[in-house]
Amino acid sequence: MALRFYNTLSQQVETFSPARDNIVRMYTCGPTVYDYAHIGNFRTFTFVDLLRRWLRTNGFGLDHVMNITDVDDKIIRNAVAQRKSLAEYTAVYTEAFRKDCATLRLEEPERLVPATGHIDDMVEAIERLSASHHTYSSEGSVYYRISSFPGYGKLSHNDFSGNLAGARVDVDEYEKADARDFALWKAPKEGEPFWETALGPGRPGWHIECSVMAIKYLGETLDIHAGGIDLIFPHHENEIAQSEALTGQPFARFWLHAEFLMVEGQKMSKSLGNYFTLRDILERGHSPEAIRYLLASVPYRKSLNFTFDGLKSAKTAIDRLRNFKLRLETDRYPEGQSEELAARTAQACKGFTESLNDDLNTAEALGAVFEYVRDANSAMDAGTFRAGNAAAALELLALFDSVFAVLQPAASQGTSDAGVDALVAERTAAKKAKNFARADEIRDQLLAQGIILEDTKSGVRWKRKSP
Ligand SMILES: [Zn+2]
Repeated sequence: MALRFYNTLSQQVETFSPARDNIVRMYTCGPTVYDYAHIGNFRTFTFVDLLRRWLRTNGFGLDHVMNITDVDDKIIRNAVAQRKSLAEYTAVYTEAFRKDCATLRLEEPERLVPATGHIDDMVEAIERLSASHHTYSSEGSVYYRISSFPGYGKLSHNDFSGNLAGARVDVDEYEKADARDFALWKAPKEGEPFWETALGPGRPGWHIECSVMAIKYLGETLDIHAGGIDLIFPHHENEIAQSEALTGQPFARFWLHAEFLMVEGQKMSKSLGNYFTLRDILERGHSPEAIRYLLASVPYRKSLNFTFDGLKSAKTAIDRLRNFKLRLETDRYPEGQSEELAARTAQACKGFTESLNDDLNTAEALGAVFEYVRDANSAMDAGTFRAGNAAAALELLALFDSVFAVLQPAASQGTSDAGVDALVAERTAAKKAKNFARADEIRDQLLAQGIILEDTKSGVRWKRKSP
């Protein structure tokens, strides 16, 4: 079956292919760099990474733009409080974001673009919106007039024809003609940094940056626009209103949205003490691969319950796959090929591919891999696994890892030679004390890092498997 996605705009699952040149023009909303990103943010970014990788596996090229929101109310408030320029303040968190992404093995988009690098483009776009009567000015700010765009609400499937009870409104609502109207350009408040432009002094609102940078780099109609589900309204609705008023063309063909992340069954919040940045989780001793695996394992349209038990299970799952890979690479099997196993491998490969083609159903894709590993391990134990079956099994693991990217241990986790010697000595001591559980645990821990132990007459020898 062909690749297909659930499109928030049509509320249908649709077959996907890019509109031109086999290149997917994709825009995803990036971080606001006022603080370290939290694991809820990284759930969305991990989904975007899986999406990138799977699009490429489908043979498509990528032109993916992600914005860095490096000017907004919180950034200005914090920068002013710390007596820093916006650039000084945001540089720290922009760099931290890139580093966190690298830690989680999230590929960097083809273009990672800061809002403040595009102020002139935004001013020009706002002038064009004003010329076509989509805006009005009030006390130095410029607002988008929602009533000038009849399609408003088509993404969130909200009917805005009546009154607007419950809609989120800005604090400076009183300056606006209609509560739905949003600021394209904000006049500076006392003591705030601002840009001097043709629109007067001020700074852009959040929504306009995405429209302007998406169109600038990717053209009038994107193949995919993605982000967290909390962005559907008002952010993405506003992006559509701005972009389509500017170009007269549909802004994006496919809209993909990742569901929320919960922590231990509750909404993440600082007051509940369950608010975690990526760095918080790493400090507790969890590996980036386990975090990545957990974030990736739940299909993006289901809400994800992030638990510490879940992280442990993720680690176990990764170890199981690593051990299977090691077994494939190091054990000797009888010559020849088992036709039955060859068919089983092909079936697993098909199951994995079809699951991801089905709107990135990662849970089913993982199911296909683990059922296969169970069967192949049984065949190995029974002596029916043959040397000729190993290559296809390794190919399946390579396909898995081209998307999930968890099999290679992180470099920083690797144990030094002295550290391995110490663990080997501890294992020997544990065995003597008949603490076999601990001995096995150490063996598995080393095995997961590609370190193989050999019990010989002269004691335990170890070697590193070449990468
Ligand atoms: Zn955006």
